[in-house]
Amino acid sequence: MFDTTTRILKDESETILFASELAKLFTGANPPNVIYLIGGLGAGKTTLVRAVLHALGYKNTVKSPTYTLVEPYIIDNKEFYHFDLYRMLDPEELEFMGARDYFNANTVCFIEWPEQGVGWLPQADLSIKLTVKGDGRELVIN
Ligand code: ADP
Ligand code: MG
Repeated sequence: MFDTTTRILKDESETILFASELAKLFTGANPPNVIYLIGGLGAGKTTLVRAVLHALGYKNTVKSPTYTLVEPYIIDNKEFYHFDLYRMLDPEELEFMGARDYFNANTVCFIEWPEQGVGWLPQADLSIKLTVKGDGRELVIN
């Protein structure tokens, strides 16, 4: 599906378009369960996750989980979790909130700042890196 692993997203509308393509992965067979989103502040990680959730049919506001660490969503009876570990001081915080249960074969977890959860987080099935390039963004998928 993603034969080109690097692409340029010229503006937010291109990010949203890419998200609708990415969203198809989660309605097909063998969806990735753990998706890392790598990139600095303002790279577009939250924008991408928000657009994927909306493309999947979620109708309400998708806010950044910067302060809550994680926001849960249920779309068509399927559980999605959107993590932002930027402010996390210790991966034990994830353990205490019971986040271990959020990772299983039936869920999808998007994780911003996965570097912060090294040693606790499961490995990524899909890793998406976003970098500011001029007015747009470069996206690399692994
Ligand atoms: P992050 O979660 O990585 O910190 P956000 O998604 O919160 O970043 O913010 C990204 C900012 O960049 C938003 O203002 C958004 O409108 C903008 N943006 C998103 N995608 C693109 C793009 N492809 N080109 C230019 N700007 C973008
Ligand atoms: Mg973010």
